[in-house]
This record gives sequence, C-alpha cells and structure tokens, in this order.
Amino acid sequence: MLLEKKTAIVTGGSRGIGRSICLALAKEGANIVTCYANGAEAANETVKMCEELGVKAKAVKADVANSEDVTNMVNMVKEEFGSIDILVNNAGITKDNLMLKMTEEDFDQVIDTNLKGAFLFTKNVSKIMLKQRSGKIINISSVVGVRGNAGQVNYCASKAGLIGMTKSVAKELASRGITCNAVAPGFIETDMTAKLPEAVVDEMLKTIPMKSMGQGEDVANLLIFLASENARYITGQVICVDGGMAM
Ligand code: NAP
Repeated sequence: MLLEKKTAIVTGGSRGIGRSICLALAKEGANIVTCYANGAEAANETVKMCEELGVKAKAVKADVANSEDVTNMVNMVKEEFGSIDILVNNAGITKDNLMLKMTEEDFDQVIDTNLKGAFLFTKNVSKIMLKQRSGKIINISSVVGVRGNAGQVNYCASKAGLIGMTKSVAKELASRGITCNAVAPGFIETDMTAKLPEAVVDEMLKTIPMKSMGQGEDVANLLIFLASENARYITGQVICVDGGMAM
C-alpha cells in the first residue's frame, strides 16, 4: 500500500469526487478526515466505507470558508491523528449565471468556498507540514479554470485562482519537502453536473475527444499518485483529467 500510516484531510468528502478520493486514499492505507457543509448522513456513509477498508476515518461539519471552522478542524486532526500528511482541497460549489445577471452574493459565495476555503486549509495545514518537513497538497481545480466558460465567471475565476495559488504555494514550500499540485477535472458524473440541462450535457460531450463523462474514480486514481512518494519530484503542476477536453 502506498499511503500506509499517512493521514489525509479531504474537504467535501460526503459525495462525488471527494468521496471517491477518500475511498481511493483509504484503499492505499491512509486515515481519512473529511468535512461537509450539510450532508452529515452522506459524510458518515463515506466514513463507514473508509473504515470498512481498515483505516481510521472521521467526518466533521465545517464550512471551508469559515476561518474558525477550518482552524478547529485542523487542530483536531493533528491532536487525534498525530500528523497531517496529505491535504486535498476538494470542496466546491457552482452558482452559474451569465455575468450580467450574476449577483454579487453569488460571486462572493463561490469565491469564498472554492478559493478562500483552499487558502484557509492550506495556511493552517502547511504550518504542521513545515514542522514535519513533508506533505502533499492537492487542489481540485477544473478545466474551465484554464479555458473559461460562459455562465461561470465566478466558478472559473475561483478555479483559475486555485491554479495561481497552487504554483505560488509550490514555490513557497518546495524547499521544505512539501509539494503542491492542482488537478483539473473535465466533465465528471456527480451531483454538480447532474443539475445541468440535457442540451448543455450534449454540447459538452461534443467537446470531449473521448466522447464520455468521467467518473470520480478517474480523478481519484491520479490523487493516489500525487499523494504518494512516487510523485516526490512533481510540484506546481496542473494535471487535467478530462478525456482530452482541454487539449
Ligand atoms: P458535489 O458532488 O457537488 O460535492 C461537493 C462537495 O463539497 C460536497 O461534499 C459538499 O458537502 C462539499 N461542500 C460544498 N460547500 C462546502 C462548504 N462550504 N464547506 C464544506 N464542504 C462543502 O461536487 P463534485 O462534482 O464532486 O466536485 C468536487 C470538486 O471537483 C469541486 O471543487 C468541483 O468544483 C470540482 N470539479 C468538478 C467537476 C465535475 O464535473 N463534477 C469538474 C471539475 C471540477 P455537502 O454534501 O455537505 O453539501
């Protein structure tokens, strides 16, 4: 197993890509701590699934955009689990609309959750990783953070921001044995994409060379590699998991 005795924080592990990441890391032996916004039942289900794989797991209600929630969660993990070896900033939301119709509130909410949330976790966790002189930070961005997308000014700005943050954090922490990379999924089958109208889905599929949607496991498989020592010499990178969409 690649991640035995490691502890991973995965934000937003109650469902979708986050749950797939929790399970993939747990299968490799990592203890898992995840957080959720409202989905307590689903998050506890993720915990149960991880425990069945033989690792320690815990879910806490913590709003990634709330500084106090984040600090409390990180302190709890350090106290109860001893170390924090892997941080996956996965929690994210969409509030889509054309720019001229987008409210300031919807803009702020998406930036706060998707971008500020990753900043708060990275800041808190990196203090612990710096003392350990090791750690793997992985930010879940998106292909639309690279390419832009009509109707998603807020979301694309947050995901492009994550790429800038990834490269800056990578430069700040590289000499201390800490890597920071971004994963940019394309079109993945989760609750987030389930709410899109069929016509939008059909148009999206036309832009994917592999002509199909990806699964959470497709993203999670890359996470196992990036979180392991096999990716020791890789930092500041953005890797697309998108069936060729962003080429
Ligand atoms: P999802 O199914 O909607 O799940 C989102 C997760 O984030 C849930 O666990 C949710 O918890 C959690 N969350 C949301 N707001 C939160 C907050 N303020 N504090 C704590 N947790 C919060 O989304 P997904 O499709 O799996 O997406 C996961 C990540 O991949 C996101 O960052 C998304 O932007 C990115 N991504 C997705 C796709 C795609 O095609 N699906 C493509 C590119 C990038 P609750 O259950 O409590 O709400």
